[in-house]
Amino acid sequence: MSEEATNRKILVVDDAPENTRLLSRILTGSGYEVHTAERGEDALRLAQEIKPDLVLLDINMPEMDGYEVCVQLKSGEQTRDIPVIFISALDDTEDKVKAFRAGGVDYIPKPFQMEEVLARVETHLALQRLQRNLQSANRELEARLIDLSQSQEQLRDRESKLRAFVAALPNLSFIYDQDGRYLEVMANETSLLCARPEDLLGRRIRDVLPADVGKTLEDAIHRAIETGKVQVIEYKIPTMTGEQHWFEGRVAVMEKNDDGNSKVIFTATQISQRVALFEEVQRLAMQDPLTDCFNRRHFFELAEQEFQRAVRYRHSLSLIMLDVDHFKKFNDTYGHQTGDKVLCDLVDTCRGSLRSIDLLGRYGGEEFALLLPETHLEGALKTAGRLRQELMKIRVSGQEAAPSVTVSLGVACYEPKSNEVATLDELVRLADESLYDAKSAGRNCVKSRQKATS
Ligand code: GH3
Ligand code: MG
Ligand code: MG
Repeated sequence: MSEEATNRKILVVDDAPENTRLLSRILTGSGYEVHTAERGEDALRLAQEIKPDLVLLDINMPEMDGYEVCVQLKSGEQTRDIPVIFISALDDTEDKVKAFRAGGVDYIPKPFQMEEVLARVETHLALQRLQRNLQSANRELEARLIDLSQSQEQLRDRESKLRAFVAALPNLSFIYDQDGRYLEVMANETSLLCARPEDLLGRRIRDVLPADVGKTLEDAIHRAIETGKVQVIEYKIPTMTGEQHWFEGRVAVMEKNDDGNSKVIFTATQISQRVALFEEVQRLAMQDPLTDCFNRRHFFELAEQEFQRAVRYRHSLSLIMLDVDHFKKFNDTYGHQTGDKVLCDLVDTCRGSLRSIDLLGRYGGEEFALLLPETHLEGALKTAGRLRQELMKIRVSGQEAAPSVTVSLGVACYEPKSNEVATLDELVRLADESLYDAKSAGRNCVKSRQKATS
């Protein structure tokens, strides 16, 4: 039994019953399933019904000849791929050409040799099988190509999203492991890195950044892994260019594994300008723009804290109010700018003769307040006297002939033992009144309404 014959159906069409019988017997003997028809119409109907793998077709038949049958088979959607082998007594070249034109794949002249018929049937079935295999391989290939192009499209789409995402990310992005080891470095601004990416990969943060910052970053990574919450930190580090920069770092867990192998994404945004602006705003909120000493509001905020501290720890605390004498005259004689310069020199001179814990604030115009923590009245009176002397050395407009700058000073003191002063306001009022006394006493002097006890 031929290998090709298994499960193969052959339709034999011939109006001579002895032919169909003979072919049927031989083919069946070779293992084929054989169907027969003696008229063209029957052949077409059977072809639709049984879907044969091959048709052996006689040409000369009454009513519908083999050519017509073949043409109709080739024009039917279901039957066009069935190979048709003509078997005919017509032996002219013209007949053969006509048979091939009608769509036949082969032509066997009658009388036929059975071996030849079998061999040709087998060959065409093998060809058909190969063709079918090829077609199904083609279909599969096409399907895979479609899949591939779809997944390539998805990949391209994902890649472009990712690229846009990375471009939109803050200046630097890193992937670290749970120990703060650099696994990936993505820098939109390489100059902001502390080292070249290739020198960072595989190393730990603590080995490339200053110890304190390294610890801050690694702690944030551990907290992110422990809590699963995004951690936000601010830190300052030296970059590759040698400049120091402030960064806002955000740490989010990327992978958390119980075996301790976790990964985090770390994005770093350079915020040096923001920090500088914030510091500037803070400075402006605290400082007097002309003289750079504390402004009145900030001075009294700090003074209130000092007063509370003095009460709690039972320390003495002194306040000196200082007002430039006849300052209006300086302005009138030498101009407002010279007056400004005198105020700045005054602050510089005061700073030079005060302790670092003392506070100096501009109370208003040409009047200043000095707070001296842990200072008794006697010490404050001495300081005030010394200041009065020092300030007289200021040269107005650099002119030797110009009059000296003189100031009047009023001194008040909070002493825990005494109940003269209970609040900062009372201390201020007492120093103010003492200043008034100094002005009344002819200016360029120091006065206090309290008596020194020690
Ligand atoms: P007194 O001895 O009684 O204190 O006399 P005075 O002229 O110093 O006092 P007064 O309060 O009459 O005048 C203060 C002057 O200080 C008036 C004002 O124009 C001037 N002044 C206040 N603030 C500034 C400043 O920022 N720059 C300059 N140049 N002058 C100022
Ligand atoms: Mg004055
Ligand atoms: Mg004044």
